Order: sequence, then C-alpha cells, then structure tokens
Amino acid sequence: MKDTAEFEKAAKQLCPEQQQEAMRNLVDMADEPEAGIMRQLLAEPQKPLSPKQQNVFDKHILPSMVERCSTCPGFSLAGAAYCETCAVEYGS
Ligand SMILES: [Zn+2]
Repeated sequence: MKDTAEFEKAAKQLCPEQQQEAMRNLVDMADEPEAGIMRQLLAEPQKPLSPKQQNVFDKHILPSMVERCSTCPGFSLAGAAYCETCAVEYGS
C-alpha cells in the first residue's frame, strides 16, 4: 500500500478552488465510486457528503489531488506538471 500521508497533508493545504480544479482534472480518469463523488462535489460543492462518501473522499480522492512536482520535491495540483513555485519559473 502506498503511503498517502504526505499526499494527504499537501492536499489539505489546497484551497477550495484548487480542489475543484484538481477534481475536474481527475474525474474523467477516476473509477467509481470516486468519480461519482467528484461529479457531485463539482456540481454541488455545498452539498454535504454522506459518512461513506466522506471516507472515500479522505482516503482516495484527497490524496490524488496532488502529484509530485516534476522539478522539485514539492507537490503540484493533479493534472499540472509543476507546483506553484516552479510554475512561475517554468510554466507557461
Ligand atoms: Zn516545484
């Protein structure tokens, strides 16, 4: 099993707008039930998740919102090659 603690920590620092952007990048590649939960969160961000959905969100969706930056040890948003720091230097 992959150790997701670091990913979770980085993902929890995302603001709601960044989480939405990450989910838009992930939703088409995701399997159920993750994809269904992401679609709900994208369509109705204010609607609370059920305890079961929340568990899937915390364990599977949240850690997948961040990826390793391709140039530094930091984390980038899912679907983006660079973290915010590196995007300033290398990004378009
Ligand atoms: Zn970086």
